[in-house]
Amino acid sequence: MKASAFAYARATSVENALELLTVHGDKAKVLSGGQSLLPAMNLRLIAPELVVDIGDLAELRGVVVKGDVLAIGALTRHADLLKSAEIAAHAPLLMEAVAHVAHPAIRNRGTMGGSLAQADPASELPACMLALGATIIARGPDGERRIAANEFFAGIYETALTSQELLVAVELPVAAKSSTHFFHEFARRHGDYAIVGLAAQASVRDGRFTDLRLGFFAVGDRPLLAKSAAKLVDVALTPSVLADAASALSDELDPLEDQQATPAMRRHLAKVLLTRCVSSLLARPDLGAGVSV
Ligand SMILES: Cc1cc2nc3c(=O)[nH]c(=O)nc-3n(C[C@H](O)[C@H](O)[C@H](O)COP(=O)(O)OP(=O)(O)OC[C@H]3O[C@@H](n4cnc5c(N)ncnc54)[C@H](O)[C@@H]3O)c2cc1C
Repeated sequence: MKASAFAYARATSVENALELLTVHGDKAKVLSGGQSLLPAMNLRLIAPELVVDIGDLAELRGVVVKGDVLAIGALTRHADLLKSAEIAAHAPLLMEAVAHVAHPAIRNRGTMGGSLAQADPASELPACMLALGATIIARGPDGERRIAANEFFAGIYETALTSQELLVAVELPVAAKSSTHFFHEFARRHGDYAIVGLAAQASVRDGRFTDLRLGFFAVGDRPLLAKSAAKLVDVALTPSVLADAASALSDELDPLEDQQATPAMRRHLAKVLLTRCVSSLLARPDLGAGVSV
């Protein structure tokens, strides 16, 4: 199938893109890497009247460290993240997660901003943004807005962005030297969207978590920063404390049914991931003993 007829504009600057979005509103769609937009148009799931191509806007591309903040331009491609020394040094969780996004051909074109604006609940990067405490930066006709990642994802393919706004960058706190991370997803094949996944960032002192941020994905209509993580912080971890946290996690989840898994299977897999994450980050194999998929 081919896309419905549409007009095409190649934006010459961020201001030019914003002017076009202001005039055309929800009849226009931004094109970054096109790895989600173009398949959706070809399947006629969406039919924008105007496509605003921002792919030439070099000012939206790149990774820089400013003090204790890592700033990533919206047009930075997945493949660029994988090659970035700044990401490797300051956001190793993100580096590990990007390797699970699709396949090299898609990672060569798909962008950070496109992935977040797409807001697929089974996507890896939105959950990383929650775990890393990211701030999403949007620009619109009224100027710039800074949105906490936890308030950005609003449902399946829905975000806090308006149709007149561009996602221009993401800011992450530089990972503390003492911090550690965990990433794992269950998928049928490497590169497939996850059945359930977990991106976690933590600080550990004397065998206890002093901080633990658990970003689950494919467990509901949007990524989830699990509140149940609080049950694992500043306590001596025992199998019963972990079981209590796993039960609280299950109450937080609202998994969807699709051809990949039932809600019950997703709840089970999320609890398996929680256990593996805790046991791995604390180097406590005893906590994970007996847990199987
Ligand atoms: C076969 C296949 C497998 C895939 N597997 C995975 C996977 O495992 N995990 C995963 O996370 N993704 C996966 N993807 C999606 C891929 O990662 C895309 O690259 C990503 O979702 C979108 O990035 P993009 O730059 O291509 O965005 P586009 O396709 O250009 O845009 C996506 C959406 O975001 C909007 N948008 C884009 N940029 C901006 C911006 N700066 N400001 C405001 N709105 C914007 C567009 O209007 C559109 O609605 C897969 C895609 C394919 C085709």
